[in-house]
Amino acid sequence: MLFPTTIAGSLPKPAWLAEPERLWPDWRLAGAALREAQRDATRIALFEQEHAGIDLVTDGEQSRRHFVHGFAGALAGVDSAKLARRGIRGDRYEADCPTIVGEVRRNAPVHADEMRFAREATKHRLKITIPGPMTIVDTLNDEHYRDRKKAAFAFARAIREEIEDLVTLGVDAVQIDEPAFNVYFDEVDEWGVAALDACIDGVRCETIVHVCYGYGVDANVKWKAKLGEEWDQYAHIFPFLAQSKVGAVSLELAGSHVPPRVLGMLGDKKAAIGVIDVATDRVERAEDVAKTIELARRYLPDERIICSTNCGMAPMRRDIAYAKLRALGEGALLARGETILSR
Ligand code: ZN
Repeated sequence: MLFPTTIAGSLPKPAWLAEPERLWPDWRLAGAALREAQRDATRIALFEQEHAGIDLVTDGEQSRRHFVHGFAGALAGVDSAKLARRGIRGDRYEADCPTIVGEVRRNAPVHADEMRFAREATKHRLKITIPGPMTIVDTLNDEHYRDRKKAAFAFARAIREEIEDLVTLGVDAVQIDEPAFNVYFDEVDEWGVAALDACIDGVRCETIVHVCYGYGVDANVKWKAKLGEEWDQYAHIFPFLAQSKVGAVSLELAGSHVPPRVLGMLGDKKAAIGVIDVATDRVERAEDVAKTIELARRYLPDERIICSTNCGMAPMRRDIAYAKLRALGEGALLARGETILSR
């Protein structure tokens, strides 16, 4: 099938599960009641994606408070209670970051329970998102390695082990989230792609790396406003990603200043193009989505195009996020020349 659809990863959490429209929401419940509520929210996230015609679905990240700390905070050597305020993503914003206090190790599976549940709850192809080594290191305070590269490879080992368990559970695709790649070009070249490859070396599933301009939150919107008429970030890193072991690159395209010609710099990789803008509450029409797909077709053969969202939708309003999911599914139908049954 041409133009298969997926989402970057996260969906908004219901207000009964966590504070709505927040990046670091507090859970509304605790203990067994929280786990049950997370599973209920996962069922809804899967249902909404299936209903919208999304082919490769995620659990909407309903069981993690934050896309980085859900994984990193579960590893030995990371102290989630020891927070230090620091600038992250090239000082684009400040965050309270957990601390690396010792050798990083994965003593037990991190996302196995929630993925086992999601696997049983859907017949669709299932994707897990895991933060990448550079992004993890950039979102922690390091008191142990004091060397970003060394720390990154320690996390890469833990990610590789985690993927092995998840593939055994029936996960079809793993997406490594590396928004930090769009900030530290020299490090991407020096060790970032090598750390990415260490995460996925020899895995028996589809692999994707997500490199984006972030959620539609204020700090990112202000940063993007300063990037000028043409954003050249991808042009710096895509040539390196073209040499990596990853199967597909997930990127922002809809409503952005990314020049589409960067799609031609991905070598033989597939591109999961963002056809949904997460930085606006305006819901795309199916025709808008189809237009973005047409734009990508000028630079890529059809069989290398996957349709996705620009980034996660965690901080959005639920009704808007679900409407955008439907636009994504319908836009892909239009691009395939199929009929939209709901019309
Ligand atoms: Zn993103």
